[in-house]
Amino acid sequence: MLEKIALLGSTGSIGTQTLDVISRYPGKFQVEILTAASNTDLLTRQARQFMPSSVVINDKTKYRRLKENLSGTAIKIYAGEESLEQVVSESDAETVLTAIVGYSGLRPTIAAIKAGKKIALANKETLVVAGEIISKMLSVSASRILPVDSEHSAIFQCLTGEEKKTIEKITLTASGGPFLNLPADKLENVTKGEALNHPNWTMGDKITIDSASMMNKGLEVIEAKWLFDLEPDQIEVLIHPQSIIHSFVHFSDGSVKAQLGLPDMRLPILYALTFPDRYTSELPRLDFKNYPSFTFFQPDMKKFPNLQLAYNALRKGGNMPCILNAANERAVSAFLKRQIAFTQMPDVIEYTMGNIIYIAGPDLSALEETDRLAREIADNYITKLQKRK
Ligand code: NAD
Ligand code: MG
Repeated sequence: MLEKIALLGSTGSIGTQTLDVISRYPGKFQVEILTAASNTDLLTRQARQFMPSSVVINDKTKYRRLKENLSGTAIKIYAGEESLEQVVSESDAETVLTAIVGYSGLRPTIAAIKAGKKIALANKETLVVAGEIISKMLSVSASRILPVDSEHSAIFQCLTGEEKKTIEKITLTASGGPFLNLPADKLENVTKGEALNHPNWTMGDKITIDSASMMNKGLEVIEAKWLFDLEPDQIEVLIHPQSIIHSFVHFSDGSVKAQLGLPDMRLPILYALTFPDRYTSELPRLDFKNYPSFTFFQPDMKKFPNLQLAYNALRKGGNMPCILNAANERAVSAFLKRQIAFTQMPDVIEYTMGNIIYIAGPDLSALEETDRLAREIADNYITKLQKRK
């Protein structure tokens, strides 16, 4: 039986690597849905290769072009955000891999959970923004989440066969990004090009900037809370520049388990798609002789305040992680447009977190309003910062 997959965000870094994985196992998977924000050319090539039932392009102005490109095929073509949710809900895909970046992944993921689908979750922002709501939905649904994020896949693999009550704590490893060894007073003047130059991973722009600023690890701490039902104090972060140990679980008897592998997202993608099986793969192998030493450091939260801000948001709960996420998305976008300095990103986030109404138990519509407001506050603050220059 072919496993039917809906791949949301197929033209991005995770999306293209997922199709690479799928193409290595002919006869195992059937791609049902491919979606993209606006890259019609790549979406067309992918659709012609994998022949899904439907494709969705977010940008409605690209609909006609996509339709022309795919004429002569039986592929159904849709455009716009609402169509994405509808196509996901109505499709007979069993698994939905969410590789959309940012807040935009939230609604389609919720649609997939409501439809009882298995979620292979790359879009960590969904759990950051609405972890509590998603957890409640999962508890009354046939749906479940399998992590794609490499650290969370590592934890998930370490927990196989273990009981939740035996977890003492987990350690999420972080590469430290391109500025790990840069003196803190030089951080202000780093360029977009330097920030996009990650030492170990090739990823989309947003997560690459998040990795350089340590916000990625902050988002992952919140993601881990909801995936594994942990308290903030049970989640620690350790810098491990080699990116070979993807994370650790510490158990109540003093034992520690870790999962290791080369930094290659195709491994956690494959595991999420095939769990509980472990498929044989031709992916490059880890040779320990090439890694004679593993090193570990405490993260520097003064130099990288984003990690501290994420812990604060997690501890505060309610709509605070949603505010953190929205302000971060605007700050990253402003940094990528060279409107603000690297070190001003945490300023934007901290300001936004301190200047918006706190809601303890927000429902989905309150989160939507929070997201909208937080973006507005962050954008206004960014404009102020630019004027000050
Ligand atoms: P990317 O920018 O390379 O790709 C994003 C994809 O989402 C593209 O296909 C794009 O067309 C689509 N998209 C963007 N905005 C959209 C919108 N508003 N509506 C619909 N589609 C939209 O990003 P990525 O690096 O592949 O990351 C995707 C997600 O996976 C992120 O949440 C990221 O944090 C997570 N993740 C990525 C990696 C990695 O190695 N790249 C690792 C772990 C987790
Ligand atoms: Mg990760």
